[in-house]
Amino acid sequence: MVDLILTGATVIDPSQELCAVRDVAITGDRIVELAEDIQAEAKQRIDLSGRILTPGFIDIHAHLYAGSTTWGIRFDALCLATGVTTVVDAGSSGWANFWGFEENMVAPARTQTLAFVHISGIGLTFGPLGELEDIRYACPDRTAGIIKAWPETCVGVKIRMGRFQLGDNGIAPLHLAVEAAEATNTPIMAHLGPGIDLPEVLRTLRPGDVVTHCYHDKGDDIFGDGDRILPAVWEARERGVLFDVGHGGGSFSFDTAKRALAQDFTADVISTDLHSSSLEDPVMSLPETASKLLNLGVPLVGVVRQCTTGPAESIQRADELGTLRPGSVADLAAFELQEGGQFEFRDGHDQLMVGPKNLSPVLTIRAGTIYDPDELAGEREADRQRALRMKALSRGDIETFLKG
Ligand SMILES: [Zn+2]
Repeated sequence: MVDLILTGATVIDPSQELCAVRDVAITGDRIVELAEDIQAEAKQRIDLSGRILTPGFIDIHAHLYAGSTTWGIRFDALCLATGVTTVVDAGSSGWANFWGFEENMVAPARTQTLAFVHISGIGLTFGPLGELEDIRYACPDRTAGIIKAWPETCVGVKIRMGRFQLGDNGIAPLHLAVEAAEATNTPIMAHLGPGIDLPEVLRTLRPGDVVTHCYHDKGDDIFGDGDRILPAVWEARERGVLFDVGHGGGSFSFDTAKRALAQDFTADVISTDLHSSSLEDPVMSLPETASKLLNLGVPLVGVVRQCTTGPAESIQRADELGTLRPGSVADLAAFELQEGGQFEFRDGHDQLMVGPKNLSPVLTIRAGTIYDPDELAGEREADRQRALRMKALSRGDIETFLKG
């Protein structure tokens, strides 16, 4: 007797190179069987015929420290309503305010919540000013200390490499981030932004480090000033540096993504960079971000990989997350792949794309518990309203930030 059997869905699990109709059996918080036709008795069966079933989506770039940072949003209902079972905060907290993040955000969340700890000890508390304009905020020892003290939550070190964030400090803060990452055997997530030499950033990063905002279009991007992807980008990929979409308010351009895909440069990971100013318009959710890439020509299996296996590997959790292998935690997402419609999408430059495909969330299972998007709608809307209040106050910040 198992707790739950999901039947009839097309299961897409890139970790097992699987794309076929399968049943999945779950007991407690574990997947116990994945097979063509599971006959075991179950307390509950859900028919997912005609749907797509994947490992739970993993969003490695979002800002989740609501109430303590200008960017933070309440995220739990949003994640669980949209197939996201693991979400990673990208540096909202640094060593000085991580403990509050752990107690107030991570502990109460039903979504598995992890963190890149910012190399700036104050994290991303105050949007209007760059967090490392004063390099005294960077402290590799204490950043490493936090990551070692909370290894269950902390997956790496965050830094934003743009002139707005770093002032006149140039590449120096990145070396401090490398120090903290080396001391903890964790990856760096480096935000790309204008005003800092991209080839130099890439040369400083190590295999396994993650570059986020890979399809941005604000200067010092993957094309430099030319039409071809910079050799330094290919060299970094060759060495094992990973590239993440990190959509955000202004860090994703349809044009850059299109040109990159035309040159066979596909991101390793799709993430949202959800925050108070990007939440609504243009990001909305991870499946909506994934749908944009789908309509830009990335095949469905590729998009699923970029939202499951890819991110799991990037945070060094692929042994447990982003897979439906029996024995793994029962984190799953079901979607309806809508085709032949006229779905409207916007990038970070207010460009409109109308595409025929859309991944619409049907249900989410996190550690064996089922979440229905309709049942979460009220909570999600209340969270959204609160984020909009912060967005109204932060409008000027995002414009400054976009200009670099
Ligand atoms: Zn971000």
